[in-house]
Amino acid sequence: TVTLSAPSALKADFPGLLTPDGEPWHYLDTAASAQKPQAVIDAMSRALGKDYATVHRGVYGRSAQMTLGYEAARRRTAEFIGAKSENEIVFVRGATEAINLVAATWGMTRIGEGDRIVLSTLEHHSNIVPWQMLSERTGAEIDVCPLTEDGRIDLGALEALLTSRTKLVSLAHVSNVLGSVLDGRKAADLAHSVGAKIMLDGCQAAPRMTLDMAALDCDFYAFSGHKLYGPTGIGVLWAREELLEQMPPYQGGGAMIEKVAFEGTTYAPPPQRFEAGTPMITEAIALHAAIDYVDALGPDKLFEHESALAATLREELRKLNAVTLFGPEESAGIVSFALEGVHPHDLGTILDEENVAIRAGHHCAQPLMNHLGVPATARASFGLYNDESDIDALLRGIERTRRIFG
Ligand code: PMP
Repeated sequence: TVTLSAPSALKADFPGLLTPDGEPWHYLDTAASAQKPQAVIDAMSRALGKDYATVHRGVYGRSAQMTLGYEAARRRTAEFIGAKSENEIVFVRGATEAINLVAATWGMTRIGEGDRIVLSTLEHHSNIVPWQMLSERTGAEIDVCPLTEDGRIDLGALEALLTSRTKLVSLAHVSNVLGSVLDGRKAADLAHSVGAKIMLDGCQAAPRMTLDMAALDCDFYAFSGHKLYGPTGIGVLWAREELLEQMPPYQGGGAMIEKVAFEGTTYAPPPQRFEAGTPMITEAIALHAAIDYVDALGPDKLFEHESALAATLREELRKLNAVTLFGPEESAGIVSFALEGVHPHDLGTILDEENVAIRAGHHCAQPLMNHLGVPATARASFGLYNDESDIDALLRGIERTRRIFG
């Protein structure tokens, strides 16, 4: 059995945490994509190997078995996030596709000229651009909710922005740059008070918090498998069943239909309506294994573990007297900073020589960089496998960088 009380032991479950020479690789870029436990790699390998067949079509046993596995992944996902029913789970390519799907289907039919969509300053580009594309097509306007001084979405300002023309509020549940955690329930209540729907971008929340769709009371929720210790190429759109039922299809093709004729085609009920073509079969099965792995550790404990590491890192960085820290003190395991006189890319390059991997750049959040007044930040983000040894390695690398830069 796995446990978080000894993260160093958990490292052994992740072959990706070693360099080619078998040295420890201090991976501090889990917010970009998580390393995979052997259980996920094995599940994917079995699904691609001795278990492989397509789903939904075959009359032979292997395909029927695979269909059971694919649908079991959907049920497990529903249970993991507290969905009412597995019919509320649409498998998509990732959070990006989930948001585009909602914009192109619900958005195109429910949002019109003069309507308003509320986003925030800290959104990832994938929660900005699809809404800009929608507003270009419909004539809707985008309002940007500002942040508090310490880098959280300002719910007071959100309340002030909402009007009866607001049709949708779409916000990051956890910021991928600052680690700020949104009170999703409060945001949902505010949106609903003016009759708007709310979508939460749960990319960074799903891997580090207990998710309960009923308690959050939002309308749409999106996340990616690869950040949840699962494979790339699969993500989840959760939406209330009654909303999915009203939404037109996203893409047309096989598997999303009820009956096809040149005189007219009818569509399958959700979630199949939104899963045109052969789905991500092996990815869904591996995602199931990832959810099992994370759930066994306890998502609440992950949050505790990673926010404690973030607090330690912030404290150590502050001691250097040469670092600007961005974002709130309470961070969900993500720390963005700037080292005086050193470009984040140079820092990242020198750290790489020390087997420490951080992210340097705009993190697909250019409006937030503008707000912070920097072109880029250095970002260390923690995963369930990180421990103090990773922080020590990062601090050693920063010391070396400071010596190099005088
Ligand atoms: N939203 C947030 C907050 C993210 O961190 C990311 C990934 N960096 C995305 C959306 C997009 O996820 P994906 O690229 O997996 O579709």
